Amino acid sequence: MAHQFKAAINQLNKVSQLRHITYDELEILRRPDRVIEVSLPVIMDNGKIKVFTGYRVQYNNTRGPYKGGLRFHPQVNLDEVKTLAFWMAIKCAVADIPYGGGKGGIAVDVKTLSLSELERLTRAYTRGFADFIGPNIDIPAPDVYTNPQIMAWLMDEYSHIKGENTPAVVTGKPVEIGGSLGRETATSLGGFYVLEQVLAKLKIAKHKVSLAVQGFGNVGMNFALIAQAAGFQIVAVSDSGGGLYNEKGLDLKAVLAHKQKTSCVKNFKSAKNISNEKLLELPVEVLVPAALENVIDENNASRVKAKIILELANGPTAGGAEDKLSKKGVLVIPDVLANAGGVIVSYFEWVQNLRHFYWDQAKVEDRLKRQIMNALEKVWQTMEAQGNNNMREAAYIVAVERLVKALRIRGI
Ligand code: GLU
Repeated sequence: MAHQFKAAINQLNKVSQLRHITYDELEILRRPDRVIEVSLPVIMDNGKIKVFTGYRVQYNNTRGPYKGGLRFHPQVNLDEVKTLAFWMAIKCAVADIPYGGGKGGIAVDVKTLSLSELERLTRAYTRGFADFIGPNIDIPAPDVYTNPQIMAWLMDEYSHIKGENTPAVVTGKPVEIGGSLGRETATSLGGFYVLEQVLAKLKIAKHKVSLAVQGFGNVGMNFALIAQAAGFQIVAVSDSGGGLYNEKGLDLKAVLAHKQKTSCVKNFKSAKNISNEKLLELPVEVLVPAALENVIDENNASRVKAKIILELANGPTAGGAEDKLSKKGVLVIPDVLANAGGVIVSYFEWVQNLRHFYWDQAKVEDRLKRQIMNALEKVWQTMEAQGNNNMREAAYIVAVERLVKALRIRGI
């Protein structure tokens, strides 16, 4: 989508009308603090040089250092990175963790790179941005198609440049080098806690709930496994190659083994193949988009049959779809709350790195639950006070009020 950032910022304008925040104060939040674009030459395995473009957008650091993932995907562009950085600023404020927002990316299809090319590209990115990141400046983390190994290379390269071991420059690292227990499953577990609590509020019994999960990467897959283990019925999953549907429920462990063997979920023996588009329109209670932006838009919103949408991806519901869904009574649990578990445990990882003192998994998960439940309660109360079913609007009110308060206290 060409004007993703403009559409995202629109949400701010709605909040300003509701909360009488001055034009000037909001003007600060309408644009990123800093946009950096760096050229990244990499020697490929065939000896040829290929020049990639690396982006980092530092949105706002009023409440703490910039924080946000690093995305490697062919669709990455500056408008998208700006949008994702803005959402991180809102997310950190909703979660009430002491960070501003940031995001980085490279337009690349990682499936076309060898492991050593991927390492050289990551190290080139780190060198390109070494002066702009740091434990008290800006802390990257995994996002779409980046993983703990990539974070390890980033941490290693940065530590070499600075001449000191600096694990707190990045989160989502492998546990062997300062990663936090529970970080890999944190986004999924946080989303699960939120969903369970929302169902309890709506008095919907767990055994009546069927779920369809779009996206079988780290977040979608772990969410499906956690939800199934807790007694929910997962009837559909998909990855970029297509999806599977069995109205009686899927055996996820077997689907996972099948994906490991064939590299996609489709053509699994005891389920029907369906397209990603059809998955979004299935008759389920809860739809969980866990892949990319704008999969639910004005065209397909009227065909969505789910009663609840749990946004584990960033921005899966396009602006125009939201009104249609809300008129149909669909409750959208917005990304800035639903997937905040990842950055919450990133915060715990950073704290552990700075303290050189590590927590066990039970402590991480217990603190995650407390932090995300507090965020949910605050958003829910705000939504009730607004008298509607628009959780995104409530989340933005909570975030903008916190950001503006911090701005006023610090001064400009
Ligand atoms: N990429 C994740 C997100 O969009 C995590 C960011 C982080 O941990 O800093 O929330």
